[in-house]
Amino acid sequence: MEAKLQELKRLLGEINDLNAAAAVLHWDQTTYMPTGGAAARARQIATLRRLAHEKLTHPAIGKLLDALHSYEECLSYDADEAGLIRIARRDYERAVRVPASFMEKFSNHTATIYEIWTKARPANDFAAVQPYLEKTLDLSRQLADFFPGYEHIIDPLIDFADEGMKASLLRPLLSELRRHLVPMIQTIIAQPVADDSCLQQQFPEAKQWAFGLEVIRRFGYDLERGRQDKSHHPFTTKFSLGDVRITTRVKEDDLSEALFSTMHEAGHALYEQGVRGDLEGTPLAHGVSSGLHESQSRLWENLIGRSRRFWLYFYPRLQEAFPHQLGSVPLDTFYRAVNKVKRSLIRTSADEVTYNLHVIIRFDIELALLEGRLMVRDLPEVWRERYQTDLGMMPSNDRDGVLQDVHWYSGLIGGEFQGYTLGNIMSAQLFETAVGAHPEILQEIEQGEFGTLHNWLKEKIYQHGCKFTPSELIVRAIGAPLSIEPYIRYLKSKYGELYRL
Ligand code: ZN
Repeated sequence: MEAKLQELKRLLGEINDLNAAAAVLHWDQTTYMPTGGAAARARQIATLRRLAHEKLTHPAIGKLLDALHSYEECLSYDADEAGLIRIARRDYERAVRVPASFMEKFSNHTATIYEIWTKARPANDFAAVQPYLEKTLDLSRQLADFFPGYEHIIDPLIDFADEGMKASLLRPLLSELRRHLVPMIQTIIAQPVADDSCLQQQFPEAKQWAFGLEVIRRFGYDLERGRQDKSHHPFTTKFSLGDVRITTRVKEDDLSEALFSTMHEAGHALYEQGVRGDLEGTPLAHGVSSGLHESQSRLWENLIGRSRRFWLYFYPRLQEAFPHQLGSVPLDTFYRAVNKVKRSLIRTSADEVTYNLHVIIRFDIELALLEGRLMVRDLPEVWRERYQTDLGMMPSNDRDGVLQDVHWYSGLIGGEFQGYTLGNIMSAQLFETAVGAHPEILQEIEQGEFGTLHNWLKEKIYQHGCKFTPSELIVRAIGAPLSIEPYIRYLKSKYGELYRL
């Protein structure tokens, strides 16, 4: 058995190496590659991904997994080897269910629609993408149908990113959240809008860069095992446990852009850097789900980085870096500016309170599309109606409406948006539990120290990689299942102090 397990580990290690090599090529593509390299690079990445997929679906893996079945049953569920075999089996079974011919058709289609979308969005031309989006919907349905036995057609698509989650669990969770958020937002926006002009001055890039790095170094981001570069869209990528990189974008006329995206990506990176060293090279060595990953980016960006306690320590340092811009701006003005709530049309720039409504709108639309209740051609109109109902405003064009997010135009319809809101919910639940166990975390934040919180998260979440499912991990960390109550408490307490609620 030992020899078979070693052979499985060796094969999985090679798959991991191929995927990591593809990730390096992708990182380079979005940071430093001259545009002339685009076509060859797309091909090189596709070749590596195809080789990895061929290795994963090779009958040798299936045979090893079969041979290890009885050995697995003798191991305790918590054992690393049991986790390794379990996750390898899940990945193998998912991969072999989808025919290679479908995968090729799907990846060709996503490359095509993405190209068309990059031109259609600035041109405000939904008609140009509509037939391609119809095909995306069709392919999304076909993909789900390779996993029969689902309750709802979106469930298999959600399961890829947030294992165990499904429409029947998300629907009540999100509608309950919406029930709290809509009146809260109406009360807030009836009050005077916060003045955030202090953030829109000239802030030289080099100083913004240095300040952001200092903050995330204090969070615990290990720069010996990571680095930060610039890219058009910020992201985190992992080549190995010793090399977890982030990117950001800097706007010299908007201080909040780089600052909060740096903290956000650092949250993702802390999770990946915190995986236990002996899981390196195995399929267990990465974060478990989109929701838990977002819970970490949002915890560090919002619950820490937009908190008053955090700025008690860091604001004087920020003023020192930008004495002309912020020297005479009081802490309270700055704090209100970085927590300004307003109605908005664009998800990615939405504040903490309104953000989830953007997600809920998309999730409901995905359900309607997949169920066949909504036609792609009616999307722009339904989008405008929902924005009017939920956020009290509607876009005057599709560029700031249904064309704004890359997701539907580069992948599936269904399975991605829920992760953002799950992340927000979990971030508050985890933070509340951590502070309950270690009340000193709050004082430490005021001193620019994050060790106790970081260690708690490492112990409860990060170290395990994806050995446990998201819901197992939450129950183990918190002692209770997922709940929106802590998140509602957090929003009411924070925004109740900023606004009259
Ligand atoms: Zn994120």
